[in-house]
Amino acid sequence: MSIPTVAGLSAAAADRAAANVGVTILDEQAKREVRRAILAGVAIPGYQVPFGSREMPVARGWGSGGLQATLSIAGAEDTVKVIDQGDEEGVNAVNLRRLILGSLRCRASADTRESTLIQSRHRIPEDSLSGDQIVVLQVPVSEPLRDVVKSIREANRMHAEADYSRMWVSMYEDLVTSGVINKSSGYPVVVNHRHVMALSPIPRWDVPRLNDAKNLAVLSHGRDKKIYCVLPHTPVEPVAFDDVPFEVEHTEGETCVLCGSADTYLVPTADGRHQCSDTEWCSRVRAGDVDPEEHLAVAPRRYYPDPERRVGAIAEPWLTDSALLTTSGSEGHEPRTATGGAVEPQGRVPGQDLPGPPGLLGGDGGRGREFRRRSG
Ligand SMILES: [Zn+2]
Repeated sequence: MSIPTVAGLSAAAADRAAANVGVTILDEQAKREVRRAILAGVAIPGYQVPFGSREMPVARGWGSGGLQATLSIAGAEDTVKVIDQGDEEGVNAVNLRRLILGSLRCRASADTRESTLIQSRHRIPEDSLSGDQIVVLQVPVSEPLRDVVKSIREANRMHAEADYSRMWVSMYEDLVTSGVINKSSGYPVVVNHRHVMALSPIPRWDVPRLNDAKNLAVLSHGRDKKIYCVLPHTPVEPVAFDDVPFEVEHTEGETCVLCGSADTYLVPTADGRHQCSDTEWCSRVRAGDVDPEEHLAVAPRRYYPDPERRVGAIAEPWLTDSALLTTSGSEGHEPRTATGGAVEPQGRVPGQDLPGPPGLLGGDGGRGREFRRRSG
């Protein structure tokens, strides 16, 4: 066995560069396994498919799952766009792009329109995507039930039986204590009327973009070794109660300080103003290189917050007052107003649950409550 020398390794590297052969980060067998997992994920949208996640030259939690998916389904003929929270120049995006280009020897582009594969951390580009494009989302938490059940075995049972009652209860608790569902990014969705799926923590703004999308979305979590997909034209519905509308992040009258857009996902700047999260979109708006009418059509305007439709928060005194916890009888459990004022009749009929959102879960998994609406 010959011992490799520095000169020998340098010569081999020079030969590979001359032949335009990329650095092997993921071997072909591993790529095939990832592709098989993606095919299984496409067959059962929203179902978490296990795969043999390999060690990558990035730390777990820094896009190792997304990197494996991209390397497995893209090739030298692809044009890849990598973004981190909508920004091409984020540290994570720059390093992942360097790894992808070095391995696949493909092109990179900041322009969403000419990209065939978009790997993203926590955003979907503002542009409308076509059926020729694939979005790979990096996922930090793939199990949507993690907050409500710690046992993996129990979570698997709940998915198998579409028993998502504990998640509904958790959201109900949010409503009765704060009046709104607190989940902001990574909002749970129901895919194809069957599986509850954890999103990459994309903002709520992007959630409606997944519904009936023309493009394939691949979500990959390297640390948990799970891949799941949303194939084109699949129904993706945010988990919400019938009488409590799903809302996206939007403040009336707020516009981007750079381009003036009001119908994009805005993030705060250091000086307290706002700008577009998608930096490439923002620069193209300023250059007049966008179709504002088309973008307006895909903006989630029907989910803009409407305080008139929100339920009132009901502070249950027995949740916070330990003295009342020992009170016997039903008096201590009567609902109070958020300010602790006079008791008002709650709209729901005791002991009668309303069915959950139609077509979502079926069985007893989709039970909701009717809430007292805040007047005025
Ligand atoms: Zn802008």
